[in-house]
Amino acid sequence: MAAVPQIHPAPTVKLLINGKFVESKARNWRDVVNPATQEVLARVPMCDADEVDEAVKAAAEAFKTWKNTPIGVRARIMLKLQELIRRDMKKLAACLTAEQGKTLPDAEGDVFRGLEVVEHACSIGTLSLGELAENVATGVDTYFIRQPIGVCAGITPFNFPAMIPLWMFPMAIVTGNTFVLKPSEQDPMTPMLLAELAMEAGVPPGVLNVVHGGKESVDAICTHPTIQAVSFVGSCHVGEHVYKLSSTHGKRAQCMMGAKNHAIVMPDANKEQSLNALVGAGFGAAGQRCMATSVAVMVGAASEWIPDIVAKAKTLKINGGTVPGADLGPVISKQAKARIEGLIAKGVEEGCKLELDGRNPKVPGYENGNFIAPTIFSGVKRHHSVYTEEIFGPVLVIVSVDTLDEAIALTNANPYGNGTGIFTQSGAAARKFQNEIDVGQVGINVPIPVPVPYFSFTGSRGSKLGDLGPYGKQVIQFYTQVKTVTARWFDDAATTGGVNTTISLK
Ligand code: NAD
Repeated sequence: MAAVPQIHPAPTVKLLINGKFVESKARNWRDVVNPATQEVLARVPMCDADEVDEAVKAAAEAFKTWKNTPIGVRARIMLKLQELIRRDMKKLAACLTAEQGKTLPDAEGDVFRGLEVVEHACSIGTLSLGELAENVATGVDTYFIRQPIGVCAGITPFNFPAMIPLWMFPMAIVTGNTFVLKPSEQDPMTPMLLAELAMEAGVPPGVLNVVHGGKESVDAICTHPTIQAVSFVGSCHVGEHVYKLSSTHGKRAQCMMGAKNHAIVMPDANKEQSLNALVGAGFGAAGQRCMATSVAVMVGAASEWIPDIVAKAKTLKINGGTVPGADLGPVISKQAKARIEGLIAKGVEEGCKLELDGRNPKVPGYENGNFIAPTIFSGVKRHHSVYTEEIFGPVLVIVSVDTLDEAIALTNANPYGNGTGIFTQSGAAARKFQNEIDVGQVGINVPIPVPVPYFSFTGSRGSKLGDLGPYGKQVIQFYTQVKTVTARWFDDAATTGGVNTTISLK
């Protein structure tokens, strides 16, 4: 007897192909789970290469007309999109909290930081201007123009399901490209709401397409002959794979990857402000921000403040993200929780001092949630696993050193280079730090120095592959091909001049 198919009550996450939200034909699906309650919110398809190909074909067809669509038309679609995102801010944040777990105010922050990129995309007219030099030779001008490169693709992580898709597709399409987005399979519903808003804003069919899945769809993107550029944000091991695969298949690639962000606390720092910033940046979003502070480097007498850090961390309220007053919610999945708890156990085993143990907190009403409360280790050394691994959870490790030079050397020796910060009231110390630190994003009395969209995200070393970052001026370069034109126009009345066999123009 044929097996009776199981009827699953959860809705399915659709694909967006050629302007239509369609059901995937995927054989494999996975559940999208609310990390605070374990409720299955939806089922997401794990697309194969054929569905990626369908999306790419739609994008390639749309590119033929979109590339020559006037700049003003593209900019006005972005103006409309920013208006629609504002209109739906609460709805987007509610969806984001349900599938990702972060608190509602933090979810609004996630949407807002993406919205800022959409606002910036509205300035595409001035951002994409070329340049012209008149009279590079007699009667000859040289100028450059920026042209879109074709079908581009983006692969995004679970931790910012609004901001990071918005880092990518608005800038890619406003520069005249068409796009295939592959959001994280762990929280694909918020990106789909954004895709719906893009359609409502007037993005033409095929200009933005969305597929889902994991390795199979990602590999299909990185090897697809039509795709010209791949933008990736996620972990180091996947980013390295994506970069290698995409670039060996002739694509531009930019990969923003893992982190271990050090905050240096000098003994002359403003104690209250600095420790508040440290605790907020260490434990906000349950430590699942790529720019979270995960290592506090206490210099000299600043180590005496460790009990104050612990006391402040204890005041943070862990709860379901929709509960008013919650400071941090759950981590994304049961697997992530188990991994983080395993690293905490290893820290204890390796001899680090567990100042605050956040394992298995009681969260009434959310007994099944993936919660880990703020956890702090002190006495951490370079070889400890809690120092070498990106934990990506609410765990702050504290390293004590004697001098600023030691703090800089420690940070520079760490393979990651995403973000760092110094807390001090000394301009000289701050300037020395800014000058000598080998990390792409530096905060001075600012804990999470993510640049606003008129700059670019500039992680460095092990946190990034590819020279150009997402958003800002750098991404205009990433998503366009510069073409230089050297032109001479003959005056019909002029008849003089002979054959010139030299290479110079005069
Ligand atoms: P991840 O690397 O597991 O997933 C990122 C994307 O890659 C997802 O879309 C996923 O489906 C896909 N993927 C997963 N495994 C794959 C495989 N084997 N082959 C091909 N594709 C695969 O990352 P995550 O857990 O979603 O996000 C957290 C990580 O992202 C952390 O390391 C964090 O530091 C990093 N991150 C970095 C930045 C930054 O700007 N530097 C920003 C946000 C997050």
